[in-house]
Order: sequence, then structure tokens, then C-alpha cells
Amino acid sequence: MSERPAHHGPDGKYRTPWPLETSDQRGGGGVLRWQMERLRTKLPPTPPASAFPLVAGDVARPHADPGEIRITWIGHASFLLQIGRRNVLLDPHFGSRASPFRFMGPKRFGPPGLALDALPPIDAVLLSHDHYDHLDEWSVRQLHRRFGDAIRWIAPLGHEAWLRARGIRNVADVDWWDAVDLPGADGALTVTCAPAQHWTRRKLREFNDRLWGSFALRTAGGRSVYFGGDSGYFRGYAEIGERLGPFDAVLMPIGAYEPRWFMAPAHMNPEEAVRAYRELGGRGAFVPMHWGTFRLTDEDPLEPPVRIRGAWTDAGLPPDDLHVLKHGETLIIQ
Ligand code: ZN
Ligand code: ZN
Repeated sequence: MSERPAHHGPDGKYRTPWPLETSDQRGGGGVLRWQMERLRTKLPPTPPASAFPLVAGDVARPHADPGEIRITWIGHASFLLQIGRRNVLLDPHFGSRASPFRFMGPKRFGPPGLALDALPPIDAVLLSHDHYDHLDEWSVRQLHRRFGDAIRWIAPLGHEAWLRARGIRNVADVDWWDAVDLPGADGALTVTCAPAQHWTRRKLREFNDRLWGSFALRTAGGRSVYFGGDSGYFRGYAEIGERLGPFDAVLMPIGAYEPRWFMAPAHMNPEEAVRAYRELGGRGAFVPMHWGTFRLTDEDPLEPPVRIRGAWTDAGLPPDDLHVLKHGETLIIQ
């Protein structure tokens, strides 16, 4: 029998296998303390929808050219990634709220950057984890209804049962470092699940019953993208870069970081996202995500893009490699 990996707990749940950079205050009274703090402090106002303009993107139909990468930001952690003549959706969320309820919970600032019915044919969907701002049941059902088994669903361990319960069978349930090949005329597109520092829960009684992760994608021709999913900063980025890099583009979360005493283990701030990028190899287009779409935490929703520009400049990185996309905008990498 093989040895149990360190991120597989003895109780069948998943866990962070390395020491945290900051102590974890999420257990015990942490949630309550955060909510009490929120009542006492005045949060920055929620910006109007006009603060997050929607632009018309440049989606290739039906596919991008073999050597080209097109990255269209749908909002939050959702992208249409066109790579190696495949169309891949990352954490697709087209719904109006990041919530188990239709009538309450964090509401979108504005419409999705790309409408569901404007999508080209989808070959694969990658899900980083089960949180409501990443895994949206309505979007999953719509995609399955429209594209059926043409979509290969790839998600960390434990998500397969959730997808199967919704009639979806073409699923690859992957552990960290597992790779899935999506075959094609120009060779396979390889999708590898990689570590992240996060947690999972959809129902109150669930906790870390499903794994979380990030993904690296690489074409047979060597074009590559890293999708960071949802993560706190951790020391594993150098290893991900060594094993799966270098990357032509890095999609990294930069929002949902305040208050730090509570959020740091699960969400990196813009400065940490730049650090992670440098440790991944410090090259390729940096595309910030996980901001500007749902109000989840306490920072000013307009602050993450300002801080990422500052952190980028402070690190002395090339200005042309930072791409703060607007909703719907497409980055084309030739
Ligand atoms: Zn999450
Ligand atoms: Zn999230």
C-alpha cells in the first residue's frame, strides 16, 4: 500500500500539509470576531457598477490559432482560456450571486464579462474548489445542458460526486500533481493540478471534504498558463514553477484579503501575489483575478488593482507584463 500524502488527513478530509506563514484564526471565535469588528468599523462603500466597466472582448471563434493564447476575463476567477486550439473555462461563474441562495449573499457588481450564450464551443472546465464564488451550480447546469459530454470537467478530489449528482459523467477527479491529457489533432493539452493553500465547504457540516488546487496547462507546442485558483501565500510556488513552468501567463488572485489577521491563510494580498509570481519563475504575463466582481471581504473593492500596480513597480518588474483586465477584455499572447 502506498503511503498517504501529507495533505490527505487520517479522517478522510484534506488539510494544509505545511506550516502557515501567519497563525490560523478561522476556527473558534474567529468568524464571530470578524463579524463584530465589521459592525464596529465603517467599511469603504460599495462602488457603483460603472466603476467596473464592461468591454467587448476578442474571443476567437471557434478556436484561437495553435500558437496563440487568448485569455478573456469573465469576472472574479472566471476566464475563457483559448489555448492549443481548445476552449477552456476556469471557475465559470455567470450567476448573479456568490451564494447558496438566489435572494441573498454577495451580489455581482455588474454583468459577466462574457455572456453564457456568447461562448464558443467549450472543451474543458477546470474547477479550483467548491466555494460559491468559484463553483456556481446554475452555471454548471447551463454549461452541461448546452455542451453535454463534449466538456471534460477537471476538478480536485471529491468534486466528482458533486458533478455526477448533477448528471455530469465526463469528469477527471485529480490530486495535486496529477495530469490529464486532452487529446487533439495538434497533440495533447496537458492539465496538471497543483497545490494551493485554501479550504473547502459548501454545506455547514462539510469542511475540507473536497480538495482545492491550482492548475497548470501546457500545449504539445510548449505554450503554458498557470491558474492560481484561490490561495493564501505559501512557500510552494518555486516547486510549482520548477515542475510545471515556465509560464507564458500567470493568473493570480489578488483580492479578498482584509482583515489580514483572518484572511491571510486563505487569500493572498497583491504584494504576496507578486511574490508568488516571482517564485513561480518571474516571467510571463501577470493577469490579476479574484477582485472587482463580488464583495466578499473588507478591503475597498477598488483597492486591489491600485496595490497590484504599486507592488509590480516596487518589484522592478517589466510594466508591459502586468495586464489588469477589464471585465470582458481579452489578452492575446502571440
Ligand atoms: Zn475559496
Ligand atoms: Zn474565492
